[in-house]
Amino acid sequence: MDSNRLLDQIVSAIKSVLPAKKQIGLHEPCFAGNEWAYLKGCLDSGWVSSLGSYVTKFEQMLAEFTGAAYAVATVNGTAALHTCLLLAGVKPGDEVLLPALTFVATANAVSYCGGVPHFVDSAPDTLGVDPSKLADYLQDIAELRDGNCYNRITGRRISVLLPVHTFGHPVDLDALLEICRFYRLVLVEDAAEALGTLYKGRHVGNFGRLAALSFNGNKIITTGGGGAVLTGDAGLACLAKHITTTAKLPHLWEFVHDRLGYNYRLPNINAALGCAQLEKLPEFINKKRELAERYSRAFAGLRGVSFFTEPPFARSNYWLNALLLDEARAGLRDMLLEESNRWGIQTRPAWRLMPELPMYGDCPAMELVVAQSLARRVINIPSSAVLV
Ligand SMILES: *Cc1c(COP(=O)(O)O)cnc(C)c1O
Repeated sequence: MDSNRLLDQIVSAIKSVLPAKKQIGLHEPCFAGNEWAYLKGCLDSGWVSSLGSYVTKFEQMLAEFTGAAYAVATVNGTAALHTCLLLAGVKPGDEVLLPALTFVATANAVSYCGGVPHFVDSAPDTLGVDPSKLADYLQDIAELRDGNCYNRITGRRISVLLPVHTFGHPVDLDALLEICRFYRLVLVEDAAEALGTLYKGRHVGNFGRLAALSFNGNKIITTGGGGAVLTGDAGLACLAKHITTTAKLPHLWEFVHDRLGYNYRLPNINAALGCAQLEKLPEFINKKRELAERYSRAFAGLRGVSFFTEPPFARSNYWLNALLLDEARAGLRDMLLEESNRWGIQTRPAWRLMPELPMYGDCPAMELVVAQSLARRVINIPSSAVLV
């Protein structure tokens, strides 16, 4: 079959699922609930900044929804990740294992701690860190010494494993936890894309010692900008709140700070939006899963391309839908991006792999064959809940 025909078939399949509209974005927010009412409440109260009742309410709702014991709201997902890594004990010079195929914030958060990102390959069935490859790799390069894991080649300590639930699909957490136990690594989940995603029936973000969520404008719910740290540990939750509030000691008038802190707390006005969005989250997830199902049916008969579906152990939020071109058809990607965007249907390739960015080119990395292949073949297609 020639390429042009497949190209037409793919564009038709996408169109068959989408409403007839001029412009369809990749991921658009939906404000159809109590957003206006809560924002007004927030303005009327005068509490718009980092103090106010919506922040606490939003944190309680998040904890309840995810099943995490504690949620600490932050100004964005990157700040949440940074906070998680600091609390997980990443020290300057430590290496942190993370996927090469991710959004740049995952690697940047490591750098903010003075850590060194160490890139690992992805599994084709989850699009996230491949546990069996990682286990083989660590057997080659890692050694355990006085309760710590070291990279034998660089001599640096490896302290944290930071997997990403890519596009809302969970990694195989049990397998990764086993690796973490053996190598004494702390597991921190980048769950920025995965609010509403379950792994073996339990919400992601509850498997690592800490996890980060994001509520950026393109995520499954949005607070404009925002994020949260999830943890089951009361002490860590307390510290997360403390260092994201400039490490200020509670006092009516004195300004005393007992360590290096950050201005990372979520403003009340953003939290107000978050409360309204969270009320709608179950509906968003249902709609997104329905949209994924429609895509899945539309692509079932096509050869040369497949629609990525959740791994067997998952109930994914289908945050961002993905097509995978067969390796032999990878050359079609750029034409497809051009053709679909020309029709007003926003599509995009996966992220450029981290080691290909100038600031991360010299970082340690394992062989990245699958990540490289995915980076050539993935195309993200419109995923908004409002499309159903
Ligand atoms: C969105 C995202 C982040 C960062 O979230 P922001 O709120 O944009 O700072 C981190 N990691 C991944 C994988 C993301 O998709």
